Amino acid sequence: MQSVFDKRKEELNEFNEALDKLNIRKKEEPTQKKEVPDDLMTKCNKCSRLIIKEDLLADLNVCPFCNNHFRLTPKERLEQVLDGDYEVLFDNLDEKHLDFPDYKEKLDEARKQTSSDESIVCAKGKLDGINVLVGVMNSYFMMGSMGSVCGEKVTLLAEKAYCENLPLIIFTCSGGARMQEGIISLMQMAKTSAAIAKLREEGLYIAVLTDPTTGGVSASFASLADITLAEPNALIGFAGKRVIERTIKETLPKEFQTAEFNLEKGYIDRIVDRKEMKSTLALLLRLHRYN
Ligand SMILES: [Zn+2]
Repeated sequence: MQSVFDKRKEELNEFNEALDKLNIRKKEEPTQKKEVPDDLMTKCNKCSRLIIKEDLLADLNVCPFCNNHFRLTPKERLEQVLDGDYEVLFDNLDEKHLDFPDYKEKLDEARKQTSSDESIVCAKGKLDGINVLVGVMNSYFMMGSMGSVCGEKVTLLAEKAYCENLPLIIFTCSGGARMQEGIISLMQMAKTSAAIAKLREEGLYIAVLTDPTTGGVSASFASLADITLAEPNALIGFAGKRVIERTIKETLPKEFQTAEFNLEKGYIDRIVDRKEMKSTLALLLRLHRYN
């Protein structure tokens, strides 16, 4: 009986060898893990759906499912609203108030991560053919906080707009005054407000409040524009909702501090979708005789 098995085994081996020689048998290939690039998809932080990054970029970083307006970098914003090339202004101003422990290290880190020198980027360019000055705050740079350099840049921008008779548009987003600079950061509220007041005697200043615009920025130049626009669902307020609730011992409405709530209360003039931002700004500039 054993010999029958042995013979059968021998035949099978011969058969397998013959197949190998003919090379017609599908060889078992080790399964290879397919590489999916890490940056192919992104998740909407509002509706939690996955979006292909390329589609998101094509939609100006607006979620195609829930219209959530993602936060932008200054470079993305300037590319969206300006016609093409633009000149960056007031770059690399010296920071003089670095005494707070670890402040210099934090600034260096923020500069490395964002490739920006400060929490606002100022530029001169054309919007639909009209010369404009634009300031864009950067929420990725120390929460878009306003220190002495940011305040100086806003002031210089307003003064330049006044002197050259150019309209000024500032896209705000900020966590507030930069606490590492203490009283110096709070002084920026008065300084920027004075420069904006001077500009408004003659020129046009449009503020576009984006998510989030809070603290010292909302309490100064973000609230002082001739025309105040906002992006949908942007958080706009001064102190945090919970802080206010604890102070006044009242429950605030769910939609409190949204752009929509602020529109209803008359604090802002219009909510503008990102896809209509450039055309809306161009229309406003033309209505004010800028060509
Ligand atoms: Zn979404």
